[in-house]
Amino acid sequence: MSQTARVLIGNGVVLTLGDDNRVIEDGAVLVEGRVVKTIGQTAALRAQAPGAEFIDAHGGVIMPGFVCAHHHLYSTFACGISCAPSANFVEILEHLWWKLDRALTMEDVRLSALIPVARAIKAGTTTLIDHHASPSAIRGSLDCIADVVLQAGIRASLCYEVTDRNGAAGTDDGIAESAAFCARARADTSGRLHALVGLHAGMTISPGTLDRCVDLAHRQGTGLHMHVAEDQADQIDSLKKYQARVIQRLKAAGGLGRDSLAIHCIHLADEELDLLRETDTAVVHNPQSNMNNAVGAARVLDMVKRGIRVGLGTDGMTSDMKEEVRAALWLRHHEHRDPRVGFVEVAEMLVKQNPAIASRFFGAALGRLAVGAPADLIVSDHVPFTPISPANVLGHLLFGVCAAPVDTTIVDGRVLMRDQQLRTLDWVDISRQARAASPATWRRFATL
Ligand SMILES: [Zn+2]
Repeated sequence: MSQTARVLIGNGVVLTLGDDNRVIEDGAVLVEGRVVKTIGQTAALRAQAPGAEFIDAHGGVIMPGFVCAHHHLYSTFACGISCAPSANFVEILEHLWWKLDRALTMEDVRLSALIPVARAIKAGTTTLIDHHASPSAIRGSLDCIADVVLQAGIRASLCYEVTDRNGAAGTDDGIAESAAFCARARADTSGRLHALVGLHAGMTISPGTLDRCVDLAHRQGTGLHMHVAEDQADQIDSLKKYQARVIQRLKAAGGLGRDSLAIHCIHLADEELDLLRETDTAVVHNPQSNMNNAVGAARVLDMVKRGIRVGLGTDGMTSDMKEEVRAALWLRHHEHRDPRVGFVEVAEMLVKQNPAIASRFFGAALGRLAVGAPADLIVSDHVPFTPISPANVLGHLLFGVCAAPVDTTIVDGRVLMRDQQLRTLDWVDISRQARAASPATWRRFATL
């Protein structure tokens, strides 16, 4: 596609989101090259761009694509796997995740990325922030995932999960992989790759390793991407070894800040929330994973009230932010035993906070349709069947768009899926490849 190719998406209800928050009936968006050229009425834009490829929304919603603020693409082969029952979070790590990641070959890394990236496009997720681990295939793994990302056409922020749980060589390789990918992301000209420095969690990171990661992030001009107090075990470990709570330890090491992501943040004391706010560190909430692992509910409404930026991720459970945002709302109602709480806060995690996080990383205004903004947009099959206006956009989002399939996904002006048909990936073929590779992965898993 040349930079001046034009795509006109019309005959839909345009939701611009962002500060404008416009609703345009019989609306259209004209994409030119990689950006939004014009937003308006379908008839007017058709007259303006008669030669453009026309995508008919058939009355559905045309809106910005979604951002997933925390994913684990490598978790793909866990689907259907058999492992020992786990009575608590640490056992879940030991019985499942720390064995699965070790069983992955480089080819598994590639296939494990292809499947959820394809599913992201199908679900209208145009940007994802991933946290990768493959201790038996560390060096080159982020390049492998980046190649999938570039082929598929989405945007992604990638990192390698540094940890001391695989010995000194594993730590060194993890840090070397992080450094190498930071350099690649900085040199990338696609505008669709970003690097963070990943760490597993405080309980598997020594003070020396934490210092090396913080130093690397500072030198590379980026932040940390780290699991924080997902379970009480993380706090107990921190207090016992370092006489400091997890966030206090991160603060002392210089690991907090506006470029860093603190994932989960379930078991935090008030003074730790204060530190997150003071340092403008973003928290990422993953409700489906938290409920599945039975680790508790993060105090996200309290965080939002304190002025902490709270985004939304899936922790590898899905690539579909539509299901995650709904789970986040149900959890608030259930947790507070009050169906009145959390609606705006939760919806804004998806449509405001996630785009703010991604915009910071990619240096572009994502998550809104505006002239000159990157053309990352979707067509939802939700044909509004009740009145829609700027006042009830979030209601149509949670109970309409998020309950409907996505028909078309466009990233950076490129049509990645049209009428539910992927254009950059062959879903049947990559599924067949993964099906052929995964039995060997499961055999290695069973011996670990
Ligand atoms: Zn995670």
